[in-house]
Amino acid sequence: MQPIIRAEHLGKTYRSGKIEVPALQDATFTVDPGEFVSIVGPSGSGKSTLFYLLGGLTRATSGKMIIDGVDFATLNDGERTEMRKSKIGFIFQKFNLLPTLTARQNIEIAYGISGRSEPLDKGHLAHLTDMLGITDRLDHRPSELSGGQQQRVAIARALVTRPAIILADEPTGNLDTASSDAVLEMLQRSNREFKQTVLMITHNPEAASIADRILRMRDGKITGIEAGLGRVVHATI
Ligand code: ADP
Ligand code: MG
Repeated sequence: MQPIIRAEHLGKTYRSGKIEVPALQDATFTVDPGEFVSIVGPSGSGKSTLFYLLGGLTRATSGKMIIDGVDFATLNDGERTEMRKSKIGFIFQKFNLLPTLTARQNIEIAYGISGRSEPLDKGHLAHLTDMLGITDRLDHRPSELSGGQQQRVAIARALVTRPAIILADEPTGNLDTASSDAVLEMLQRSNREFKQTVLMITHNPEAASIADRILRMRDGKITGIEAGLGRVVHATI
């Protein structure tokens, strides 16, 4: 089986004038299709930098990031954007919903931007929003939703295109326990029921324990990769 993600001696140094920050150094790992991997490490250890590289949101300064057999470095900006739109769903700590649009419009516009040729599958969307418990919130704007509800809308937005890979950067970082569990349960179901590959960055050891594998980072380096517990999440909302 070909890995869906392959990082080879991947590195990123931020440069500004004479200042250089080696945010990620010599990261080598693979992820198989359908795996759930947690990425843990203290603040400043390079987790978000790795997330941006995985999503093709920034360019590596050394090494390779290969997604589904394609090396990001061989793509021009337009091709990278297409790759991202066709294969990856993003979930951020701060939700990043468009404030003037309703929840439903946020999801629909993301689907439109993804450039899928087939129309949005309303049945799939209804299934997602039902699983996420936000069906009755779809005509509200983000300011009228709780943080947990906003993150569940953001998850529906990421999943509606059925991406092969879901990248989540601290998705439960701003949430209470019940909302966190709802988010984690949905990520786990996406992984187990829809066979999507999930990479989740988290500070929280409890959250990390739902993964198949845990990748540990410190000071811009991967310090270990170990088996996760595969803990099953049952949310109460
Ligand atoms: P984490 O997500 O684990 O907190 P980051 O990847 O955000 O870590 O940051 C890793 C290191 O890179 C930190 O020292 C951070 O200050 C630095 N860094 C992150 N983004 C930038 C940037 N755009 N310019 C310069 N330095 C950055
Ligand atoms: Mg971060």
